[in-house]
Amino acid sequence: MQPGDSFDPARDRAMTCLVTGAGSGIGRAIALAFARERAHVIVNDLPSSAALDELRKDIEALGARCTLAAADVADAASVRGLFADIERLDVLVNNAGILREAPVTEISDSEWDRMIKVHLYGAFYFSREAARLMQKQRRGAIVNIASDLGQLGCENLSHYSAAKGGIIAFTKSLARELAPHGVRVNAVAPGGVLTPMVEALGARYIEEEAARYPLKRLGTPEEIAQAVRFLSSDAASFITGQIVGVNGGGVMNG
Ligand code: NAP
Repeated sequence: MQPGDSFDPARDRAMTCLVTGAGSGIGRAIALAFARERAHVIVNDLPSSAALDELRKDIEALGARCTLAAADVADAASVRGLFADIERLDVLVNNAGILREAPVTEISDSEWDRMIKVHLYGAFYFSREAARLMQKQRRGAIVNIASDLGQLGCENLSHYSAAKGGIIAFTKSLARELAPHGVRVNAVAPGGVLTPMVEALGARYIEEEAARYPLKRLGTPEEIAQAVRFLSSDAASFITGQIVGVNGGGVMNG
């Protein structure tokens, strides 16, 4: 859609949005935000996840269409196979992620590989397939979920921070490359958000984490979903290559 085009409810209701790692936390909130817009929501999570069935019920209860697309985002063949069934895609959200604290001296080769694979390869595999479709459509939006730690760095999370820093550079590169094709690419870089990923780190971590933000609290998954929804909508038609901090003021750019 070009700036100035009129709003077409039938077309916009039929928007197709794919969210990776949608079974929990931020991804689930993003999928539900799209469902509230009556989009067709394609939801991905690991094949072992039981959460997608429940999510599908919640999406359908909102009157939206839902398709399950279970796959390990770090498995190129599975991602390619998943796209074989997708004819059109308006929005891709690369959200799937993992977190495990460890000092650099304790990170094994396989832990480093897995961290980079899930975040960076996952975003690459999905974006590569999405870009093929979106270039043909001459329309589309990709939103990557980065992290403030990809901007700040973080002790005991060097592998995670490196992966997120890579996602930030990938976002800017893809934004430049796909702009001539009518495709926008942005990232949301959340600060600490109360999700199972962070809750698993314990109450003390959460308290200390909240204290480091000017707003003195962690965010909610819905607050991240709002930013993703905006960046993927036509309201953001002149925004590409941006890293939008939804972080309680933890990082201030400009
Ligand atoms: P979460 O509640 O743990 O959700 C992550 C989801 O990704 C889970 O459903 C998980 O499935 C899924 N997943 C993990 N590995 C996958 C794979 N290989 N293939 C497909 N799905 C996979 O975590 P969250 O906090 O919502 O995090 C979502 C994103 O936000 C991540 O990229 C994270 O790095 C980023 N982020 C989070 C925060 C925060 O404070 N929460 C801050 C900045 C950025 P399982 O549960 O089955 O493993």
